[in-house]
Amino acid sequence: MLMNGKKGVILGIANKKSIAYGIAKACREQGAEVAITFLNERFEKKLAPIAEELECSDKLYPCDVSQPEEIVVLRESLKEDMGEIDFIVHSIAFAPKEGLSGRFSDVSKEAFNVSMDISVYSLIEIARELKPIMSNKASILTLSYYGGVKYIPNYNLMGVAKATLEMTVKYLAEDLGKDGIRVNAISAGPIKTLAAAGIGDFSFMLKWNSAHSPLKENVTINQVGNSGMYLLSDLSSGVTGEIHYVDAGYNIMGMPAVEFDDNGKPHIAWNGETK
Ligand code: NAP
Repeated sequence: MLMNGKKGVILGIANKKSIAYGIAKACREQGAEVAITFLNERFEKKLAPIAEELECSDKLYPCDVSQPEEIVVLRESLKEDMGEIDFIVHSIAFAPKEGLSGRFSDVSKEAFNVSMDISVYSLIEIARELKPIMSNKASILTLSYYGGVKYIPNYNLMGVAKATLEMTVKYLAEDLGKDGIRVNAISAGPIKTLAAAGIGDFSFMLKWNSAHSPLKENVTINQVGNSGMYLLSDLSSGVTGEIHYVDAGYNIMGMPAVEFDDNGKPHIAWNGETK
């Protein structure tokens, strides 16, 4: 199995719809040992059955990434329970509601700072604080979205955070490369999760993506999970600083495909029904 003997920590499982859950499952299926984290006690109970399923009930730790001391405590717990680790999954993002709809120029400094802190700076802090317990062939993975590269309606503040996150991946990759640590991101297509529910008109985004991607579908957490597992495994040992798209190919499209009716009138394919 591809992940036999590998140990890692996965941050960002909220429930079984989370992308991080898809990655955790794929890693477990390939023989990895995982630890998972929860935000606060309210979520501990919710995660208990998932931890049981992933066979890590004894490795379920609190970690609110906005609290630096919790990251340090996490490292010490991981050190005690797992020794060295081989991978980290950072599948965390947050923006206040005001940053995910409406006029972009109205966003407050508080909203801007909190989204950058939780969605971006946490990756740097986790990489730095967990470095002492990482093996010299370790891999870090984070999650991005196309809204960090091009304008996407309502993605607003999170788009700016993802742009910063993608450059953070590249600078971290260079910096940690000398320690044998790889850093990559998956830019996933839209998936209906708890975090996604906060984005204005998200269901429209899903329809648009499936209609206009080459594969004419939306990706699943299993697909993102398998690609994530590849980036965490030795199969990708020559890959770092990469933003890997798992989006049914949507990002390659410069213009939606045009179809013509029997009278030669062009129209844009919408939700598959017109095909
Ligand atoms: P999700 O299931 O809601 O996961 C988001 C996770 O972030 C939750 O577990 C949440 O914890 C955690 N989180 C928020 N603030 C935190 C904090 N201060 N400390 C620790 N954890 C915190 O949604 P998801 O869609 O899987 O999101 C995972 C990642 O994928 C995010 O970076 C997201 O931007 C990215 N992504 C999502 C999509 C999509 O369409 N869904 C597409 C591309 C990229 P709680 O739930 O406990 O608050």
